[in-house]
Amino acid sequence: IETVNILGVRVARMGMNQVLEWIRIMIDQGKPRHIVTANAEIIYKAYREPDFRRLIGNADLVTPDGSGVVWASRTLGQPVPERVTGIDLIYKLFSYSHEKGWKIYFLGAKPEVVEKAVLNTLGKYPKLHICGYHHGYFYQEEEPKIVSNIAKEKPDILLVALGAPKQEQFIQRYIKELNAPISIGVGGSFDVLAG
Ligand code: UDP
Repeated sequence: IETVNILGVRVARMGMNQVLEWIRIMIDQGKPRHIVTANAEIIYKAYREPDFRRLIGNADLVTPDGSGVVWASRTLGQPVPERVTGIDLIYKLFSYSHEKGWKIYFLGAKPEVVEKAVLNTLGKYPKLHICGYHHGYFYQEEEPKIVSNIAKEKPDILLVALGAPKQEQFIQRYIKELNAPISIGVGGSFDVLAG
């Protein structure tokens, strides 16, 4: 993957279609991968906090989420083709998954928010295979059970909306057990889907 280093974060110089193609290949390969959609806030947080920078550095793909990141890549002389935001990527993945039969699991947000997000999504994509969901307010002791429930459903794509850095910590702590080819931290996106 060709990247541009923005304040210590290696951001993929990939547009939306290249990201979707990468995801397709990774789902075919089946090994678990972690995607971060990095907006300016995330990059600044990584710049300021070494622990968070390590989490982002461990991700398999970091997409340029937002005009600030696109602008920064241009001033560095290594432009990214376009922004790839979390919510745009989610919508693309919904229509793509529809076609390919990929299964999606929603983890995060408040109970009523994730439920509404799932219902609204099914209203828009009736044949989308949402294989499960769980809200994002749990104790650490509950995590093994939540993780094994997710793994049982064998999602191709796991969307994790716990905010940063919780979602990145969760994904990296459990990536092997989750065994989902693609896990993406999606921040406040379920709130958007819930409307
Ligand atoms: N959230 C959660 N569990 C928590 C903390 C936050 O599920 O323990 C959810 C919250 O309800 C929201 C999402 O994480 O849906 C993203 O929160 P926020 O907008 O603060 O994160 P950001 O988008 O800035 O990363």
